[in-house]
Amino acid sequence: MPLGNLLGAEGAGFVQTMQTLDSGRISIGALGVGLAQGAYEEMVKYAKERTAFGEPIANKQAIQWMIADAALGIESARTLVYKAAWMKDAGRDYTKMAAMAKLQASEVAEKVCHDAIQVHGSYGYSREYPVERMYRDQRLMSIGEGTSQIQRLVIARKALAEL
Ligand SMILES: Cc1cc2nc3c(=O)[nH]c(=O)nc-3n(C[C@H](O)[C@H](O)[C@H](O)COP(=O)(O)OP(=O)(O)OC[C@H]3O[C@@H](n4cnc5c(N)ncnc54)[C@H](O)[C@@H]3O)c2cc1C
Repeated sequence: MPLGNLLGAEGAGFVQTMQTLDSGRISIGALGVGLAQGAYEEMVKYAKERTAFGEPIANKQAIQWMIADAALGIESARTLVYKAAWMKDAGRDYTKMAAMAKLQASEVAEKVCHDAIQVHGSYGYSREYPVERMYRDQRLMSIGEGTSQIQRLVIARKALAEL
């Protein structure tokens, strides 16, 4: 390959690839937050619409717990994604924060999309409602740009080196 086609410094390709992954993890984290937010909105809307035993299922405590867990999880994931993005913009080492944001957002997306189907009952399993697609789409979040197992390795390595 001609020398003129060399991208970056010679021998630094692995480090550059890892840096690209750090950045991509913030994007996957944002995707996870967006998916979770969408599923959450569908969950709340349906819980208010669907009546059982004479009242909206939103009045049932079991449904409210799923809504509360979703709201909490999304807020925590969004905060981590913003923090990782802020650290990147500030030129700080954001490897651990990007892994944390991606891991948290993908696990929150999985739980919220799962619960959104649960709140919809059998309609959640059908293609008539968007939560079925959201549940399939969220599976990528814990695989692409490094699996959840790899995010935990990255976080642990950084944590062990820090203290
Ligand atoms: C829809 C989709 C789009 C994608 N888009 C892109 C893209 O645009 N660009 C790109 O480069 N890649 C892309 N990928 C690939 C993705 O990044 C890889 O699939 C992912 O990193 C996992 O690698 P793998 O499939 O080789 O799994 P493997 O590495 O074979 O992992 C299999 C299992 O073993 C576990 N495992 C592997 N190594 C370890 C370890 N050291 N410790 C503990 N557990 C481990 C994994 O966590 C996983 O559970 C995409 C994947 C999907 C599904």
